[in-house]
Amino acid sequence: MRVTLIRSGQVFAPEPLGQRDVLVVGKCVAAVAEPGSVRIAGVEVEEIDAEGLCLVPGLVDPHVHLLGGGGEGGPATRAPEIRIEDIVSCGVTTVIGCLGTDGVTRHLVSLLAKARGLEAEGISAFMLSGSYEVPVTTLTGSVRSDLVLIDKVLGAGEIAISDHRSAQPTFEEIARLAAECRVGGMLAGKAGILNLHVGDGSRGLELVRRLGEETEIPRWQVLPTHCNRNRQLFAETVAHVRAGGWADLTAGLEAQDDGVSVEEAVRLFRERGVSLERVTVSSDANGSLPVFDASGALVGLQVADQRAFFAAFQRVARLGGDGLAAAATVFSTNAAKLFKLPGKGRIAPASDADLLLLNGDLEVVHLFALGRRVVENGAVVVCGTFSVGREAHA
Ligand code: ZN
Repeated sequence: MRVTLIRSGQVFAPEPLGQRDVLVVGKCVAAVAEPGSVRIAGVEVEEIDAEGLCLVPGLVDPHVHLLGGGGEGGPATRAPEIRIEDIVSCGVTTVIGCLGTDGVTRHLVSLLAKARGLEAEGISAFMLSGSYEVPVTTLTGSVRSDLVLIDKVLGAGEIAISDHRSAQPTFEEIARLAAECRVGGMLAGKAGILNLHVGDGSRGLELVRRLGEETEIPRWQVLPTHCNRNRQLFAETVAHVRAGGWADLTAGLEAQDDGVSVEEAVRLFRERGVSLERVTVSSDANGSLPVFDASGALVGLQVADQRAFFAAFQRVARLGGDGLAAAATVFSTNAAKLFKLPGKGRIAPASDADLLLLNGDLEVVHLFALGRRVVENGAVVVCGTFSVGREAHA
C-alpha cells in the first residue's frame, strides 16, 4: 500500500488549520497532524515537502457533460467527450455527469460507462438520470429505481425549466420528479438531488419556489443550476438561498450578456448577508454555450470547459478575508455535502485522499486523487486510455 507524507503545507480542511503534516495511506487520509509529529516505521514512505504550499480538498464539480452536450445547431455541433487530463489539470477529483438538451443521440448507459471509465482512470465520477426533457429517460424505468439500483446515480438532471429548449414541464410534473428523487434517495441511502437547468425565461425560479411552498419536499432536494446567467435570475437566487434553498452557479457565464461572474456572485451573497453554505459552483464543462437571437435562431456556439471553473476558483480565493477557505467550501465541500459523498470535500482523518496542493499564485502544483498523484510539479501524470502520449507515461 502506498504511504505518502505531505509535510508542512498550510491546510484548508476547508477551514484553515495552519501548517500541518498530512499522512496518506492507500486511498485515504490517515492523519492531519502538527508538523514533525507523525512517526512511521517499517514501511516505505514517500515524502513531499509542501512548505509554502496550500492544501485544499480536491475540487468537486457537480454538473459536467461527461459525454459532451450541445447539438442545438445540428449533429455537427455535438460537443466532444471530456478527458481525464482536462479534469485533473483543473484540480478536480470528483465529477457528477449529466446529459443535456440532447436526450436522443446521448444515452444514459453511455454516461454510466463514461463515469465508470473515468473512475478506472483514477478519479471519482457519478451521474444524474434523465436529460432536459420530461417525461425523463431513465436507465431502469424510473428515477426512483435508477437511484436504488445503479450505484453511480445520485439524482435526476439536468431537467430544463424556464427555457425555450425545455419540454415546458408543468408544476405537477416537476413536483412528481422531485418526489421520485426524494423517495428514491431515501430507499437508496443517497441524496437524491433534482438538478434543474434554469434558462433565460422570465419564469426564472418560479417552479422551484412553488416546490418549497406547496409540497412537503425539503428545499435541499432541489438544486437549480446556471443561477448566475442573468441579473434578474441571480436576484431571485439570492432570495431563494436566503429562504433555505440551494443554488448552483456556473463558471464562465460572465462571458454572456448580463451574466454574473462567480466571484461577483460570492461578493454579492456576502454583501447581502446570505450564507454561502448552500451555494455550489459547477463548470457545465463540455456542454455547449449556444447564443440565440431574439427570434430564437442559433447565432453562435462555444464549448464550456473546466478551465473557467478553476479560474473562478482562483478569483474567489483572491477575494480576501477567508478567500481560500471560502473557495474550497463552495467549489468542493458544499457539493460533497449536498450530494452526500462521504469522504469528499474535506481533509480529515478517514476522508478520501483527494488533495489539491497550490502555490502562492494558486496554481496547481500537485493533485492527489484517491491517494494517487495525478498532477506532479504542475504536469498531468495520468493519461486517458487513448490519449496521445500514453507511451510516455506507461
Ligand atoms: Zn444546463
